[in-house]
Amino acid sequence: MDKLTACRFCQKEVGYELRTCRHCGEKDPLGLEEEIRPLIAKGQRIEAVRRVVELTKVGLKRSKDYVDSLS
Ligand SMILES: [Zn+2]
Repeated sequence: MDKLTACRFCQKEVGYELRTCRHCGEKDPLGLEEEIRPLIAKGQRIEAVRRVVELTKVGLKRSKDYVDSLS
């Protein structure tokens, strides 16, 4: 699967801020939340972080921050 790096609204590179597109200001530009929130809801935070790392190219630290920001 290709990594998710482009905003689904404006198609520009999202960068490190995963919750809001820095170009168009739309929320959840990669469509990650519906994938990640159920894992967090089930208490599977480590799995959630792993999934974000897998789907994006922002690395472990940013992925963890992202999961924390959804909790
Ligand atoms: Zn955008």
